[in-house]
Amino acid sequence: MKRREVVVVGGGLAGGAAAIRLAQNGQKVLLLEKEPAAHDKVCGEFISADAQHYLRELGLDLAALDAERITSIWLMRGQSIASARLPFSGLSLSRRVLDEALLLRAHDQGAQIWRGAAVTAMVREPECWRIEVAGHGVIQAETLLLATGKHDLRKWRRAGVTQTDFVGFKCHFLLTTAQRSALSGRVEMTLFDGGYAGLSLIERGKANFCLVVTRRHFARYGKTWDALLSGILKASPPLAERLHGAQPCWPRPLSIFGMPYGFVYRVPSSAPPGLYRLGDQMAVIPSFSGYGMSIALHTAFLAVECHLRGGADLYHRQARSDLLPLIRRASWLSKIAEYPLAQRGMLFAFRIRPELITMIARHSRISPPKLGADQVC
Ligand SMILES: Cc1cc2nc3c(=O)[nH]c(=O)nc-3n(C[C@H](O)[C@H](O)[C@H](O)COP(=O)(O)OP(=O)(O)OC[C@H]3O[C@@H](n4cnc5c(N)ncnc54)[C@H](O)[C@@H]3O)c2cc1C
Repeated sequence: MKRREVVVVGGGLAGGAAAIRLAQNGQKVLLLEKEPAAHDKVCGEFISADAQHYLRELGLDLAALDAERITSIWLMRGQSIASARLPFSGLSLSRRVLDEALLLRAHDQGAQIWRGAAVTAMVREPECWRIEVAGHGVIQAETLLLATGKHDLRKWRRAGVTQTDFVGFKCHFLLTTAQRSALSGRVEMTLFDGGYAGLSLIERGKANFCLVVTRRHFARYGKTWDALLSGILKASPPLAERLHGAQPCWPRPLSIFGMPYGFVYRVPSSAPPGLYRLGDQMAVIPSFSGYGMSIALHTAFLAVECHLRGGADLYHRQARSDLLPLIRRASWLSKIAEYPLAQRGMLFAFRIRPELITMIARHSRISPPKLGADQVC
């Protein structure tokens, strides 16, 4: 049986970032990712200023990856449009490219990466973790970083998770030249009955279209992607214009169900030693905020710092206190935005006072982790 210092389970944003930080700090780390190769994920693919900061720290050059620069936002419902400049420059890049770049960087920094390595079971033994990996046998680890995103491992489900009624979809499109230049530099958010959609350019002239809708409304629209899309486009003429004649890059969109928006992990008193939950395993912010990746990266940095200087208990307490206020605010806004009347009210307010949009974006931030001297073990 092979024994490792640290094993990271999951090679998304949180897992990839943690593996890089661990390797840069001289730790022998093994990362296990269940997918055999780079893949797409349901995500708005908007990279906030905080996420960019963390990615730069990790050594990623997002411009070299052809990320699109986003400086403004349009909020739309029906024919109404409110627009504002963002208080920072965002970027937009597909998760296929971004996650892959992180794993390559982790490998370059000395982390060992196993792809097509799905963890099927984890057991806490007296001295270490015992990890069963499909097709690779059993390995042991002193410390385990769990970064499996929305997927819970059997017997290690997150306590307190309440799945929401939302369904998420995403599809990449090839736009016409005119549509591309009209969309350039901004993210367009469309509010519609039961949900919202985001459209922005990504690398290589493609556009990412990602939406969430309640199951109830999905059923009302006709319970298929085609019926949903045509219902949304009918109700949203500016979006219909943007996608008119655009070519979907895939035959079917990617989808995801039951996102536990508002979840923030609370470490139980009986938590096993040496287990850190990162990214969506630690907290899930409503999608419209475009902040899930920043949280995944924040938790990765914090977890590694605590692993080196503190411990898992300190990590979970600190992460919860960093994230709870932010996630509460976003969940509250997301709840309101479900209702058509509230959507109309928001559009009305944002059209008169566009600086409100800028203000909300400015207040949705977390500071980079810094442990106080009193917290270090
Ligand atoms: C509709 C929608 C839109 C969003 N839009 C944005 C946005 O615009 N901007 C933003 O910042 N955030 C956005 N988010 C949030 C963001 O996508 C997530 O918060 C982020 O991906 C979490 O990163 P993670 O590393 O925790 O999980 P993931 O990125 O999901 O990575 C988890 C990895 O673990 C692997 N894995 C799972 N189980 C196992 C196993 N048993 N063994 C081995 N590997 C395993 C998976 O294959 C995957 O690669 C959005 C989310 C949704 C649902």
